[in-house]
Amino acid sequence: MAPVKPVRGTHDILPKDIGRFRHVEETAREIARRYGYGEIATPIFEFTEVFARTLGDTSDVVTKEMYSFDDRGGESLTLRPEGTAGVARAFISNGLIQNLPLRFFYRGPMFRYERPQKGRQRQFHQVGVELLGIADPLGDAEIICQGADLLDALGLSDKVTLHLNSLGDTESRATYRQRLIAYLDGHRDRLSEDSLQRLDHNPLRVLDSKDERDRAIVAAAPILTDSLNDESRRFFDAVRRGLDTAGIPYVIDPRLVRGLDYYCHTAFEFVTDALGAQGTVLAGGRYDGLIKQMGGQPTPGTGWAAGIERLAMLSEGAPPEPRPIAIVAAGEAPQSAAFALTHRLRRAGFAIDIAYTGNMGRRMSRANKVGARATVIIGEDELARGAAGVRDMESGVQEEVSLTSLETFLSRFR
Ligand code: ATP
Ligand code: MG
Repeated sequence: MAPVKPVRGTHDILPKDIGRFRHVEETAREIARRYGYGEIATPIFEFTEVFARTLGDTSDVVTKEMYSFDDRGGESLTLRPEGTAGVARAFISNGLIQNLPLRFFYRGPMFRYERPQKGRQRQFHQVGVELLGIADPLGDAEIICQGADLLDALGLSDKVTLHLNSLGDTESRATYRQRLIAYLDGHRDRLSEDSLQRLDHNPLRVLDSKDERDRAIVAAAPILTDSLNDESRRFFDAVRRGLDTAGIPYVIDPRLVRGLDYYCHTAFEFVTDALGAQGTVLAGGRYDGLIKQMGGQPTPGTGWAAGIERLAMLSEGAPPEPRPIAIVAAGEAPQSAAFALTHRLRRAGFAIDIAYTGNMGRRMSRANKVGARATVIIGEDELARGAAGVRDMESGVQEEVSLTSLETFLSRFR
């Protein structure tokens, strides 16, 4: 074992890079605020059952990707691979049914044992939303609008396309399942090993296969849309009308199915071709069966999640960090005055950089290096007069400022 290496598929986000991540997260939080979605934070691990029961025993996530372990008490726990199951669990365990409808926003790390590549990690981060207790198709339109607003606020509208489909209700999916099995049965000899397995356990998932040969077969498969019953069709039309009204463009993608078992009716993905194979940046859909399946009262739900890393890679970057003010003591004697002043200014809300060692020249070059907007120079003579030199690092102009009015003077450099 090599203890100084990070675990494969995990990454350190260094201070110089974290601004882009925080920008995605904070933009998502701001959009969530506008839509009335309150932030919820659930644990990063849950009983394995929480995911196994809800994601479906045949889903890729459950069969191949979960980080599960037995804790010291012998309980099987799993690092969350996604956010919805935990939010649904929290909804049930906190007895929140009285408060419906509920709108939740979350952010945080997720864990999946996947083959690491660009845009695909074993620990990654998501922002997401869940809307519980609204069976109306406008609920789906609402969360899709919210996703579109987030991408727009990040400057990504031109880089993404919204793909939309309907999986229909249980009856429609059962009808389709039969038609799909009948079709795929005729191609058994050419399907990949994975897809043959899926065909027996969860045939809809064959549509999701990334195998080239499977894709050719899937391209000619019957489409779900043709199996939708009247009720499902009406639902789908209402979602589309909602998006049309809001002016959100989309393409209908009849082969779009979501990887997880609990979805019904609406399924959607915002995709880009700017990230290679990892093109889905924000994805979600309706999951009316989920909460009942977990043992709660039947409660409709709809939501989405977006990968923060993928969004950060796509967006031009965060607004620049505000620049600090540097404190430079000219010599040994003013050092403690400089330290006291630093403390005072930080408490007053200024971002202060201070060096403790080196001569005046080295300290000035550090002030330059950290991009200081202004430098406060504490020399013995000025100090004796109750003042300090303040240099505007942009213009190079330096003036003497009384220590008592320093906060007022410096506020122009904030
Ligand atoms: P993919 O088809 O790329 O595997 P998925 O269907 O497994 O995606 P979801 O479960 O819908 O993804 O997760 C929502 C979003 O989270 C994805 O669109 C993507 O942006 C991000 N995401 C999912 N898995 C990873 C990962 N391993 N590394 C980085 N981001 C990820
Ligand atoms: Mg995946």
